[in-house]
Amino acid sequence: MKKYAILYVDDEESNLRIFRDTFRRDYTIYTALSAEEGIKILDEVKIDLVLSDQRMPGMSGVDFLKYSLEKYPEPNRILVTGFSDIEAIKDAINQAHIFQYIQKPWNRDKLHKTIENALRIYRLEEENAKQREELLRAKEVLEQKNKELLIAKEKAQESDRLKTEFLQNMSHEIRTPMNAILGFSEFLLEADDNERRKYVSIIQNSSRQLLRIIEDILEISRLVTKQVPVKVEKVCLNDLFLEQYFYFDIEAKKKNLQLYLKKAPDKASNVWIDATKLNKILSNLLENAIKYTNDGYVEFGFELKEEKIHIFVKDTGIGIKEESKSTIFKRFSQGEKGIAKRHGGLGLGLAIVKENVELLGGVISLESVEGKGSVFTITIPCRKAPEETKENSGEETNFSNTVRYKILIAEDEELNYLLIETMLKKRPEDIVILHAINGAKAIEYCEKEKDISLIFMDLKMPLMDGFEATKEIKKRYPGIPVIALTAYTTPEKLESALAAGCDDFVSKPVNKDTIDKIIDKYLTPQ
Ligand code: ADP
Repeated sequence: MKKYAILYVDDEESNLRIFRDTFRRDYTIYTALSAEEGIKILDEVKIDLVLSDQRMPGMSGVDFLKYSLEKYPEPNRILVTGFSDIEAIKDAINQAHIFQYIQKPWNRDKLHKTIENALRIYRLEEENAKQREELLRAKEVLEQKNKELLIAKEKAQESDRLKTEFLQNMSHEIRTPMNAILGFSEFLLEADDNERRKYVSIIQNSSRQLLRIIEDILEISRLVTKQVPVKVEKVCLNDLFLEQYFYFDIEAKKKNLQLYLKKAPDKASNVWIDATKLNKILSNLLENAIKYTNDGYVEFGFELKEEKIHIFVKDTGIGIKEESKSTIFKRFSQGEKGIAKRHGGLGLGLAIVKENVELLGGVISLESVEGKGSVFTITIPCRKAPEETKENSGEETNFSNTVRYKILIAEDEELNYLLIETMLKKRPEDIVILHAINGAKAIEYCEKEKDISLIFMDLKMPLMDGFEATKEIKKRYPGIPVIALTAYTTPEKLESALAAGCDDFVSKPVNKDTIDKIIDKYLTPQ
């Protein structure tokens, strides 16, 4: 059992000795000949009971016990005093809150009992304090648990609210195309040819919308449960972005918006990356940018820097409120209610974007000013891939078993050029493609490259237009077929193109079928 520590202060050494001899077996005894000495011991040792004689030179017993109460309130205090010290006893009780007083000369058994009582109370108080502390700790733990439960409850309620909202949205989003499908399929039976075509197109569009909803829901659940593997392949970023451009340019034009693409400045844009995921990221952001923009433009593009692709999608649309910025990336969450109602959607697009970006090890950020527009910026790490040297080099390459042509495209708009270039590259023949950015350059090419098989000639170009260039080329090289590329559709303009010497014309926007037909018509294998 623990031996309690008792301090006894008395200016008479003989008293101290007797005390030590009497109680040393039961307790650890400390003695001091003055209050000052007693204070030193109190400061150094953990004392469980303090006894002090009242009459001492220097500090009195009451003052010493008062000091002990103030600095070390836990151990009980006992005053040892002569019979006549009534005033001192009163002070000791009132000011030093003593446990008891003992009159000198003390009786051994009585003192022992008093000491035992004082220590028992002390022990009980110690235990009480410990229990109080444990209770306090338990209370704190409970309060913390309570807080956690509250947060969990709020989260569950929030997720419930989001789910309900999502189901309502989904029901609305499904109902709209469903109505169109059901309604127009009924009309089909009695429709004339013209109407039938229109109705079938509406039904097809609505079915595509339905499919998209299902695909989005499946996609997000696969992404969230981490079931989507990353498949890295060699990708030409310029081509990938261009394909997105061609697809969304049609959507932008429907809303009278300009769509701009900023590609890598040179052709070095081959990287190893998961193309499907990159396409998904871009298409969702572009779709939103066009959806939430009524005037102005949408611009997107990328830059390759230090093994990272930096993508941006910028619009001059309605912008996003400060308080919505952190929530719109969450599943099923949309911005403002009114906006969501007007534009439809399930609130999955940005969640799909964010999950895909993170799957590719990247980060997404958003800057937006309400009423002015938004910029989404994405950074994804990727390794550069070697460039193919054959493409676009303008150098002739020998292919023994493929037919070889040399086609010149005179076109000042880079994207229009790239579109035709892409269509030509898909042909089975080996085609060397040359690019002139104005009429004068087209003439220069004809002089330099003697064996040009065909020219696609844009009519509206800076410096020298297509009409003038065609006249000059036809004068010097009448054998080269020149096909006008034109956005002009008036009969007068087309006639002046033919008068300038063009053999045929293709109206913009060009499609692959038309280009194929022209090639098949004007080029015979050599
Ligand atoms: P959805 O478009 O189906 O509602 P998204 O997850 O794609 O879902 O977008 C979430 C919300 O973010 C949208 O409801 C819209 O309020 C806001 N938002 C997304 N992109 C834009 C943008 N480019 N401009 C303005 N608001 C946007």
